[in-house]
Amino acid sequence: MTGCVFCKIARGEIPACKLLEDDEKVSFLDSNPLNPGHTLVVPKKHYETVMDIPGKELGKLMEIVPALARAIFNVTKAEGLNLFQTNKPCAGQTVPHVHIHIIPRNSRDGFSFGWRQGRYKEGEMEGLRNELIKALGVKL
Ligand code: AMP
Ligand code: ZN
Repeated sequence: MTGCVFCKIARGEIPACKLLEDDEKVSFLDSNPLNPGHTLVVPKKHYETVMDIPGKELGKLMEIVPALARAIFNVTKAEGLNLFQTNKPCAGQTVPHVHIHIIPRNSRDGFSFGWRQGRYKEGEMEGLRNELIKALGVKL
C-alpha cells in the first residue's frame, strides 16, 4: 500500500535493521524500542489488523517468532519477553499494517500494563459466549 511505512520496509524502499526475512514476511528492530532488541514481525502483504489477515498467513508469520524470541532473549540477556499486538488506534496501533511486537523484558524496566480486570454481572458471560458462538458459526 502506498505510503505505508511497513510496506516500504518490506519492499526495501526505506532502510530497516532487518533480522529474518523471506518472500512472505520480514522482521526488524523497532526504531523506538521499549527495550533494546524490541523487534517487529510483519507480513509483506498489507493487512491493517489481525481481523483482516487470513489465519494461514498469520500462522506463517508466527513461524519465525520462536527463533527470534530465543535470539533476542539470549543476546539481550533479557529475563523475560512479551509478545504484543495492537489493532486500531484505541488499542495503541500507530502503524496500520498488522505486526507482532517481540519485547525483551527485565525486572528493572519498570513497565506495567496497568490492567484493571473486571467482573461479569450474573448471566452476562454466558450471554456473551452465546453471541460469540453464533458469530463463529458454531452450532450450540
Ligand atoms: P504500534 O504502535 O503497535 O502500531 O507499533 C508500531 C511500531 O513501529 C512502533 O513501536 C514504532 O516505534 C515502530 N516503527 C515505526 N516506524 C518504524 C521504522 N521505520 N522502523 C522501525 N520501526 C518503526
Ligand atoms: Zn502496509
